Parts: sequence; structure tokens; C-alpha cells
Amino acid sequence: MIENETLFENIRRQFPALTQKVNGREFVYLDSAATTLKPEVVAKRVYHFNQYEISNVHRGAHYFADQATQKYEEARKTTAAFLNAKTTTEVIFVRGTTEAINLIAYSFARPLLKENDEILITEMEHHANIVPWQIVASEKRAKVRAVLVKENGELDLEDLKSKLSSKTKIVAVTACSNILGTVNNVKLITELAHKVGAKVLVDGAQIVSQEVVDVQDINCDFFAFSGHKLFAPFGIGVLYAKKEILETMPPYQGGGSMISDVCIESSTYNDVPYRFEAGTPNVEGAIALGCAIEFLKSIGFTKISEHKKDLLEAATEGLLKIPQVQIVGTAPRKGPILSFNLLKTHHSDVGQVLDQQGIAVRAGHHCTQPLMKRLGISGTVRASFSIYNNIKDVDLFLKGVKKAQELFQ
Ligand SMILES: *Cc1c(COP(=O)(O)O)cnc(C)c1O
Repeated sequence: MIENETLFENIRRQFPALTQKVNGREFVYLDSAATTLKPEVVAKRVYHFNQYEISNVHRGAHYFADQATQKYEEARKTTAAFLNAKTTTEVIFVRGTTEAINLIAYSFARPLLKENDEILITEMEHHANIVPWQIVASEKRAKVRAVLVKENGELDLEDLKSKLSSKTKIVAVTACSNILGTVNNVKLITELAHKVGAKVLVDGAQIVSQEVVDVQDINCDFFAFSGHKLFAPFGIGVLYAKKEILETMPPYQGGGSMISDVCIESSTYNDVPYRFEAGTPNVEGAIALGCAIEFLKSIGFTKISEHKKDLLEAATEGLLKIPQVQIVGTAPRKGPILSFNLLKTHHSDVGQVLDQQGIAVRAGHHCTQPLMKRLGISGTVRASFSIYNNIKDVDLFLKGVKKAQELFQ
């Protein structure tokens, strides 16, 4: 414990954002589920690439173009290993989770779906894992159905089983809810979905920073995540897809790099993954993502999840002692995400009181309006914990909530 405490205090020092004051108070960042802060090593990697290594990839015939291409492809290798993908070609660099899901909806679902086919999602999905399916479903006269969420925030697996049928073509589910914290058993869900012949997309946006992901063990067909929630910059994300499926998919966008031969009338497309990376990619983003993954690996996920679990437990225990607090999401398996409301108080008022004390949380519907409707609330206050948080952050957070509770009671 003591050893880990020193380790995580050292980690914390690598995030200069945390040395600032907000409203005259020490800055407490509890909004990592929205985006993580970036460690110095990642920020410096981006700077270094821009100052010394800048070049486009896959085209130039000069030293730095070669170097940039090699580093971009090394980042793909690092990412493939991070997910335990079978081959590097199963990793496509995109802008983020949202683009990854849209790519699958467009290039995989659109050619596949027929009238009355079904896409099965869950009530706890982020809008990014709802709206792309609605768009393609309405075009193909297919249906989007949702698995129910129980009162405690767990997914209702019986309901899932009852909704799976030969009509189900795609199951799209989050590995971890960005509001309830619920961690879903995506391996089991994949097994159930495959039994009816459906393909499975896992939204990995929240899980990647929490535990080791093994796409071969999950056996999902698609897996999506965003770099910016994994200590990398905005605008870089990853779509993993099984190679045999990728090879059957038409391109998502047309342009440079995704072709092998172009005539005015028609073109032949490049091999995967390049077929899905039209135009100049986010080279520095991919390289920085590789750097962020190495940074995480050097800490190790066992220590990371222990640390976050300690913080989540301390914060949950403390919140339960404050009158009128209602925790939203109490599933047995939870990520470091703590949503709550104060009875008869609007979530944004609580968020504001916390902000005045230098504490950054999120207050709102968190891009999960269907879930909010299901739970009969308009939103929540959400505190989320990461590797750079410590027990002092938890104490300041609890003090802040207590203050809000006294103010509004
Ligand atoms: C953040 C998030 C998304 C969307 O990610 P973008 O980076 O905005 O594309 C999707 N799903 C979950 C669970 C998320 O937390």
C-alpha cells in the first residue's frame, strides 16, 4: 500500500495540470471519464514530433517521411498488442469511438441489413452507440432495440437473452457505462450473440483505462475506443475489427492512401487497414497514443485498478454518510465512476458549488439521455477517478458535496 502510494504520487507529478489553482483553491480533477489529463511524456512526444520529425506518412521518398511512417506503424503495432489483436492489420486509426462506430454502421451494417432485421443495443449506451445505428436502421427499415437496465445499474441478461433472435444482426454494447460505472460481461454477451449469428461491437471508451483488454478472449468482432480517454490527445481513436470481416467491408471514405490504383472511371482499393484510412491521418496523435500505452504499461494494470478501486470505495463510503445523497449505479462490478444526486437539488447546482471549490466534475445527462429517461432523472453529478487522483482529492470532493448539501437543504 505504502509502496503504491509513493508510486502514484510520482505519477501524479507527471501531470502538470494538477499544480494549478482554480478559484483560489487546489485543482481537483474528477472528470477523467470525459477526458483524461495528459502526462508530460505524451505532451512532449507531440511537441517533439512537430518540432523535429514532422512529415507526412506513406508517401514521401525522404528520410523523415520514412521515419514518420515507421513510427506511425509502430504505434499501430503497440495498439494491436495492447488489445491483443491477432494481427496489426486489424487496427484502424480513426478520430475516436464515435467515428469507429459510425464506420462500422456505414461499412458493415449498411450493406448487411434488410427490412425487419434488428440491432440490439442497451439502455446504458452513450449516444455514440445509439445514433449511428438509428441512422442506418431507418435507411434499411431495420429496428434498433435496447436491453433493459436494472434499478441498480446492472444489465438485465435475461432480457438480453429474450431479445436475441435470428433477426439480430448486430449487438452493440458498452464494456463500461460512462455514467453508472457498470462493467458488463462482454465476453458472455458476445458468446450469446454469436449463438444467434449476430456480430458484436464493444464500445471500449471507458474500459481501456481500467483493465487489460483482450479482444481475442472477448471474441468480439469490433472494438472501439478514444485516445483522449487514455492519456493521449484528442482526435485519435481506434477501431479494432476481425480481419476476415474487415476484408469484406467497402471503404468508409474515399481519398488518398486508401486506394491502390485510380482511374477516372474507377479505382481499386488498398488492403486493410489502409482501405479505411483515407487522407492524411492524425500521425502525431497515433504516435502519442502509442506513447500513452507504453506509459500505462510501465505502471501495470493490476496496480492501476487497485488504486482506482481504493479511491472509488473511499468516495462511495463517504458519500453514503452525507444526508440526501442518492448514488446512481450500484452494480457489483463497477469502474471508477461515481454518479449521484442530492435529493431535491438540480445536478448543475451541485456541479457549480463544486466548481467554486476548484473541483471539476461533470453534471448533466452525459450523452445518455435514454438511460436518464429510464431512471426517471434529468441528469447526475459524476465524479470519475484516474491514476493521478489521490485520497486527498476524495476528501476535498466529499467536503465539497457536504457543503452543497448544507447549502441546498
Ligand atoms: C466518451 C464515450 C464515447 C464517445 O467517445 P468520443 O471520444 O466522443 O468519440 C462513447 N462511449 C462511451 C462509453 C464514452 O464514454
